Amino acid sequence: MANFEDLYREIILDHYRSPRNRGELTTPPAVLVEGFNPLCGDEIALYLDVDDGALVNIKMMGHGCSISQASASLMGAAVKGRPIATVRDTIETFKQLMTEHEATIEHDGRPAQVDLRALGELAALQGVVKFPVRIKCAMLAWNTLTQGLDQVAA
Ligand code: ZN
Repeated sequence: MANFEDLYREIILDHYRSPRNRGELTTPPAVLVEGFNPLCGDEIALYLDVDDGALVNIKMMGHGCSISQASASLMGAAVKGRPIATVRDTIETFKQLMTEHEATIEHDGRPAQVDLRALGELAALQGVVKFPVRIKCAMLAWNTLTQGLDQVAA
């Protein structure tokens, strides 16, 4: 177990250096939604292609700290091609992961109440809860995605 933390750091760095789903979607009916985290200067732009109740494609542009950009990349990989209901479930689960308080983190560093297996690589971001100022960085892409989905549904 020594090396959950190392493994997680590797995953975050990998997504930061080689962000997945980078780019833009220009063909309608892609939705463009942008988010900004003034505390850190992180920016994200998401292009969402929603069709027949599924997020058929997602592309993103942005810049900022490693946590914000890695979180966006991990998010894209987790939600692309999924039904909207599943995407919203994943957003909820991730939010839970980010709102666990330190008191609930077990001795091995894992939050007690979130099913990490369901999160896959997203679990790599769990360490962020220990640094409250970075939670907004990690949540930026997710909050932006929620806005985008609400826009599509409206
Ligand atoms: Zn940041």
